Amino acid sequence: MSADVDVVIVGAGAAGLAAAKAAQGRGLTFHLIEAAHRIGGRAYTEEMAPGMPMDLGCHWMHSASLNPFPAIADRLGFHYRRDGAWRMNGFMGARRLTEAEHAEVHRGMAGNYAAIAKAAARGEDVAVSEVMDLDHPWVALHAYWFSLGTSHDPDEISTIDVDAYNDTDENWPVREGYGALVAGWGADVPVTLNAAATRIRWGSGGVVVETVKGNIAGRRLLLTVSTNLLASGRIAFDPPLPDWKLAAAGALPLGVHNRIGILLKRNPFGPEAPTSATLMLDGEMPIATQLRPFGYDYVVGVTGGRHGAWLERAGAAASVDYLTERLVGAFGSDIRAALSTRSIVTAWAGDPWTLGSYSSASPGASDQRAVLARPIDDILFFAGEACSVEFAGTAHGAYLTAVAAVEGMAGL
Ligand SMILES: Cc1cc2nc3c(=O)[nH]c(=O)nc-3n(C[C@H](O)[C@H](O)[C@H](O)COP(=O)(O)OP(=O)(O)OC[C@H]3O[C@@H](n4cnc5c(N)ncnc54)[C@H](O)[C@@H]3O)c2cc1C
Repeated sequence: MSADVDVVIVGAGAAGLAAAKAAQGRGLTFHLIEAAHRIGGRAYTEEMAPGMPMDLGCHWMHSASLNPFPAIADRLGFHYRRDGAWRMNGFMGARRLTEAEHAEVHRGMAGNYAAIAKAAARGEDVAVSEVMDLDHPWVALHAYWFSLGTSHDPDEISTIDVDAYNDTDENWPVREGYGALVAGWGADVPVTLNAAATRIRWGSGGVVVETVKGNIAGRRLLLTVSTNLLASGRIAFDPPLPDWKLAAAGALPLGVHNRIGILLKRNPFGPEAPTSATLMLDGEMPIATQLRPFGYDYVVGVTGGRHGAWLERAGAAASVDYLTERLVGAFGSDIRAALSTRSIVTAWAGDPWTLGSYSSASPGASDQRAVLARPIDDILFFAGEACSVEFAGTAHGAYLTAVAAVEGMAGL
């Protein structure tokens, strides 16, 4: 194998782009390949209508003071709101929850996090459902929130993994779209698009990455594809990856978190309407919504976990109906006349290049993020959101793991 570049980087999401920039900064030569027709991966903004960006993937710059993207946004002239902790503004049908009910909901969730922290401190890597208060009157809402935060249901996620997330309560949305920010920041990085890696041959002489556009040789490889993609076997390895690496990918599966957007013909909400609202109908799954985010004339509802997966399988029309019925429940049937037929519905589980939304450690597997990130023979390196312990499941977590991986290989 003759090495054409120092590192072949597979995947041009937040991690792959950060890796390319870090390699550039350290004088390493690289070849970045991307299977899709665009850069950004799970950071992706589309226009609901001209001048109305809507994020399909990441939306909030989480833990903003520890996140490199706000500074990038400043440099590139993107705008964002410095939001703190998110407010739920609950509706049960048309009835707005009282302050006392909101307090009860939040106390219950704080109690769940306290129980998770206690279990984690004792080293108990068990399912969140084993320690959360299942008798709490708002348990369905709490379970739904876990499904948004982790893209899985509480019985599928590890206490220690949830506890390890470093949340500063600064969640800053980007007016032009977080996906547009990542794409704008990555625009100066040379990348070969529509070039899926199909097979990776590796050994002491380096790597050869076989793609649909030809072979690329390098001294090392940095793989940033999602854990579901890695576990799917869609990229063949010769020799095969060791079992411990595939087990790590399998223990950090991507679940489902989807976004359903509907364009409004006009603003149907009165001046008193909140900009975010969690809509519930008795006995059914809640849905958190953004009502005209940044003043754009659309609404977005978010789904997660098994329910999100079920809705994704039911299809875009069923998803739009689902959100519509809950909007009608909260704001009355007149709202139907304000909803246009234009919608954007994500289907991340079905996305061929991610196969899901973001990773969570399964119960008992919280140590697997470090295992996933561990290089093999100083030849194969790994990065991406699933490698991050502190910021798992986020765009900046992906970024930071990639910089760490490039630093690791530059130091060899
Ligand atoms: C609906 C949704 C909402 C989210 N909300 C937030 C949020 O508010 N804030 C936040 O920080 N994060 C959020 N996230 C998570 C965040 O988007 C991801 O964690 C992050 O973008 C992942 O980056 P990555 O580089 O690790 O992976 P990816 O973005 O998946 O990049 C991997 C790249 O590899 C490419 N690839 C796959 N297979 C191959 C192959 N064979 N050959 C070449 N290339 C290949 C893929 O096309 C992809 O571009 C959200 C995600 C979703 C889905």
